[in-house]
Amino acid sequence: MKVARFSQGDEVRFGVLDGPELVVLKGHPIVSGYEPSGERVPLKEVKLLAPSIPSKIVCVGKNYAAHIDEMGLSANAEPTLFLKPSSSIVGPGDNIFLPPQSQQVELEVELALVIGALTRNVSPEDALQHVWGFTVANDVTARDLQASDDQWARSKSFDSFCPIGPWLETEFIPEDQMIESRINGEVVQSSTIDQMIFTVPQIISYVSHNMTLLPGDVIITGTPAGITKINSGDIIECEVEGVGTLINQVA
Ligand code: MG
Repeated sequence: MKVARFSQGDEVRFGVLDGPELVVLKGHPIVSGYEPSGERVPLKEVKLLAPSIPSKIVCVGKNYAAHIDEMGLSANAEPTLFLKPSSSIVGPGDNIFLPPQSQQVELEVELALVIGALTRNVSPEDALQHVWGFTVANDVTARDLQASDDQWARSKSFDSFCPIGPWLETEFIPEDQMIESRINGEVVQSSTIDQMIFTVPQIISYVSHNMTLLPGDVIITGTPAGITKINSGDIIECEVEGVGTLINQVA
């Protein structure tokens, strides 16, 4: 089931995709479940929004060996975690803004998930039960500032540096699906999610032993090789097979 958060006029609601339409839901699905409101709206008449505005975005760095190689780094024994602020989130179709502080802003396609319930100290075996659904993220990074700052907070946190969407797929099981990014139609990153060093259940479990995850929190699971500079006017497509394609323009 694909669950979208959308606006129509100044109302923000959730709906379930049904062909070219959305079956509008009563309330927030985490709180109210999937009870239909009785209304249907054409997908083309709404603006899709980021599927969640979380308390935090927990990010995993260095989770694909080929990306670690291209960065000239080495793998760690445990997942490398960092945070992005919720103010960096934008939705599908929104612009990615290049900050004047950076001359080297790059894209990073990542499989993302949204937590559905308070999650603390879960085992890898139970971890997927705490996921509301999966989506696609772009961990936009000011690569020059990442190097010069010695840590990653600023380089990954500018407004619009975390596009997520276009919706949540609630039945996605992470296996060996394709993950890909394209700039103006040209493929720049292409891999499969079974190339992750730490699996999705291992990541959720690890994070939950280090901080409490709240309903709506987002985890992004690392990027494959092929990180590439983006420029004003570029159309960026980030896709995970079985989830969807997130499209943003660089401004
Ligand atoms: Mg990343």
